Amino acid sequence: MARVNSIARSWSSSQSQSWKEPLNCRATAEPHMLWKINSGSSFFWWDSWTGLGPLAVFLQKGTMPGNTLVNEFIHENKRDTEKLLNTVPAPLHNLIERIHINDPSKPDTCIWTINSDGKFTCASPRELTRKRKDTNDTLNNLWYKRLPFKIAFLNWRVMRKKLPLDDIVSKFGQNIVSRCNCCPNPQSETLDHLFVHGDIAKNIWQYFANSLGIKISNINLHLSWRDICVIVDNYRNQISSCLMYWDRPITQQFKINTDGSSLIQMKKAGAGGIRRNKEGRMILAYSEYLEFCSNNRAEIEAALIGLKYSSSLGLNNIIFEMDSKLMVV
Ligand SMILES: [Zn+2]
Repeated sequence: MARVNSIARSWSSSQSQSWKEPLNCRATAEPHMLWKINSGSSFFWWDSWTGLGPLAVFLQKGTMPGNTLVNEFIHENKRDTEKLLNTVPAPLHNLIERIHINDPSKPDTCIWTINSDGKFTCASPRELTRKRKDTNDTLNNLWYKRLPFKIAFLNWRVMRKKLPLDDIVSKFGQNIVSRCNCCPNPQSETLDHLFVHGDIAKNIWQYFANSLGIKISNINLHLSWRDICVIVDNYRNQISSCLMYWDRPITQQFKINTDGSSLIQMKKAGAGGIRRNKEGRMILAYSEYLEFCSNNRAEIEAALIGLKYSSSLGLNNIIFEMDSKLMVV
């Protein structure tokens, strides 16, 4: 009885597990092997030499093709047509007739079809068999080259839940009383609490949101990169507007519109103003940073600065217009 060809062998539960994996790899690699016919030393039924894979699959079920070699159908560099007709299913005849016979003095050679030069390399089957995990854009974007490595690494640990926080440590059987260090009333130390919901985290998020003039809500550390992009894309500066009328000053008068502003959280204040003539043309405009002060103080400073500039230019007969109820009587 002919031995089962190695290509047709399958794994059975009585065989070792370490044998199972090579057999799995064989199924992946075999379709990428093509035998180039020289002397016909390839297996007729089992080696892929026609480009269709093993010809054994075209036989009727239950047929046991032996380890016949291709050269049993070739005599003196010519095909044994009669034998082929009697052995091979009819649809394959034309294909086999077209197979080129190369150098009969050499054994058949195997072409590794993945590489353009047909030569086998260890790297190419590895690419075929390795199981790649789905790429995660959020994690990939953490490794931004201008970000210090320690920051990128911290971000990675946050995203992958690799920080030794109380909730994670307790999963390893450590019974600990969890208390955060970020809130006046300590709560459980969890990843979300430390980086999103805790007092310090909320202040930090708020600080940067204010700097950008946006309002943020529903921060989630576990969003996909696509969702993050959608959220960021939807952030808009909070701008409100209303219709205003500006009355021109009468002849010989100038009008100065002033405004002062104080941002408590950013500890910043500033003042500015604009002076126009009776035609509405701008004569003077100014804006200045102030030492941090109240809104009312900033409004007063805005008017004083306007007065100072006007006086230095010798401009009198001024009307002030501002939105401070404290200043406007
Ligand atoms: Zn806290």
